Order: sequence, then C-alpha cells, then structure tokens
Amino acid sequence: MSLRWSDKRLRRTAGFYRRGPGVVGDKGCEIVLSRPLLTPLPGSATESTLCHEMIHAWIDLVLDVREGHGHNFCKRMALINAVQNGFQVTVRHQFPVPPSLPKWWAICPNCGLRSPYKRLVRGAACRKCCDAHYGGRWNASCVLLYEPVEKGV
Ligand SMILES: [Zn+2]
Ligand SMILES: [Zn+2]
Repeated sequence: MSLRWSDKRLRRTAGFYRRGPGVVGDKGCEIVLSRPLLTPLPGSATESTLCHEMIHAWIDLVLDVREGHGHNFCKRMALINAVQNGFQVTVRHQFPVPPSLPKWWAICPNCGLRSPYKRLVRGAACRKCCDAHYGGRWNASCVLLYEPVEKGV
C-alpha cells in the first residue's frame, strides 16, 4: 500500500488507514500520517501511529474483517506492546496529541520563560519568578505577556 505524510490540514487525527475510491495512487489503499501533529513530536509518536494504522490495514486486508478497535485489534496491539519497548500502541487516534493546540504563548517579562496557554489568563504571573524573588506572592513585575501562537507552524 502507499504510505504518505498528510498536508498541513490534517489535525483531527494523528493518522488513518483507508481503502477504496478516493485513495491517491494506483495501489487502492493507503496510510496517511499527520505531518503537523507528528513531526514536532519524538519519533516514537510516529512509530506508534504508523503501527496503529498498520493493525487496521492488517485486519482489513489480511483478516478481511470489518472492525474498528475490537477484539482482533486489541489482541494484536497487546502483542506488539509486549514484545518491544520503543513505543506503545493505543486505541486512540489522538495519541499522543493534546485535544486542542495552545493558542497563546505566555511570556514572563522578568525571566523570558515562554509557556503555551490555551486561554489567555489576564493578570497571571510567572510562578517561577514570584517564588524566586517575592516569596511566592504575586508581583506586577512578573505578570505574563501574551503573544498569539502562529497558525500552521
Ligand atoms: Zn484506530
Ligand atoms: Zn519568570
């Protein structure tokens, strides 16, 4: 089958297997891995996702069974997880991706630390600097500044 990276738009799932019309190329079935979700993560995330989709392909093409994450899937997943330590396959297609991507960078004007934030929290201060310089109390000099995370990076 073909194996390819997605374009930048595939963000809802880390990967998928499919067969039938709509498949690019002449092989009739393919595995597509999410470029935006997987490339920033360690290689084990890609291995785990690829292996997950290969189990779907094996159930469809070799066992010739219509099944999602059922008995055959779980049995094969458990076997693969038991015989190697490089990665763990799960039944989640989101693994190991967080459900939503952060929209903001919170930047401490004091120490320069950048942390990803999903929501803007007005008046929040850098915990590290408040602990280090102000005995754990909130101080205006450590109030975080926000910068939007660039889309599609
Ligand atoms: Zn799956
Ligand atoms: Zn700080």
